[in-house]
Amino acid sequence: FLSDVAIKAEDVWKIYNQNHTDEVIALRGLNLEIKKGTITTLLGKNGAGKTTFLRIIATQLIPTKGNISVLGYDVIKDVWKIREKIAVIPQDAKPLLFPSPLEFISSFLVMRGYSFSDARKRAKETLSELEIPEEYWNRAAWDLSGGYQRRLLLAAVMASDSELILLDEPSVGLDPIARMELWGKITLLKKMGKTVLLTTHYMEEAEMLSDHVIIIDKGKKILEGNPKELINSFKWKHKIEVLD
Ligand code: ATP
Repeated sequence: FLSDVAIKAEDVWKIYNQNHTDEVIALRGLNLEIKKGTITTLLGKNGAGKTTFLRIIATQLIPTKGNISVLGYDVIKDVWKIREKIAVIPQDAKPLLFPSPLEFISSFLVMRGYSFSDARKRAKETLSELEIPEEYWNRAAWDLSGGYQRRLLLAAVMASDSELILLDEPSVGLDPIARMELWGKITLLKKMGKTVLLTTHYMEEAEMLSDHVIIIDKGKKILEGNPKELINSFKWKHKIEVLD
């Protein structure tokens, strides 16, 4: 039996600074379900709880309360099983710690169990597929523009065998052309059969990219549906005015 559900979250709460006076309730009883092989966008204004949710799915944060399964595994008990199957690009991530694009992707693949020579071969293939100019392959990654750095992170993700890709505000700081390219790559991930969950502030991005949009506000889901349905509804327009 293969379930078509990639993520199922039931009554998820995250309270920061528990037991202190300045506690913050980032998630308050969030329920959601994400189907395999789809691109789902979490849309919401600053502080809505998008990053918190993504980091819980990425097994980087423990929820205060709630049940969450990721690819059929329990997010608290099966941390390592989940980590083997997911790839995460955090907000403002930069491949700066690695000496070159080639090393960056190779290291990522070696960590995923590839032999060194296979990793290098696969990394080269990926860099050409992504049209990262060959003269950059062995240079310091910080020589690349922000857009190329973002591509590089995505290249590592694409070269890995991850089933679920988590992207936190992937297009922030990109110019319009780089943003369109990024959307193309994300769509390609879906064509490769992967499940993508991303967060954004941009309605346009949610509309262009996703099969399913989930709007969260103050740690709760307030609306969801396919982007066209949502855009056509009055409710959607109303909520959008409330967003950024
Ligand atoms: P943004 O769009 O600004 O990234 P977001 O929707 O991703 O926002 P979160 O980053 O998840 O929202 O934040 C939700 C709430 O939790 C906010 O009020 C934030 O200030 C708070 N918060 C986030 N991280 C922490 C932390 N480590 N300690 C305390 N409070 C936190």
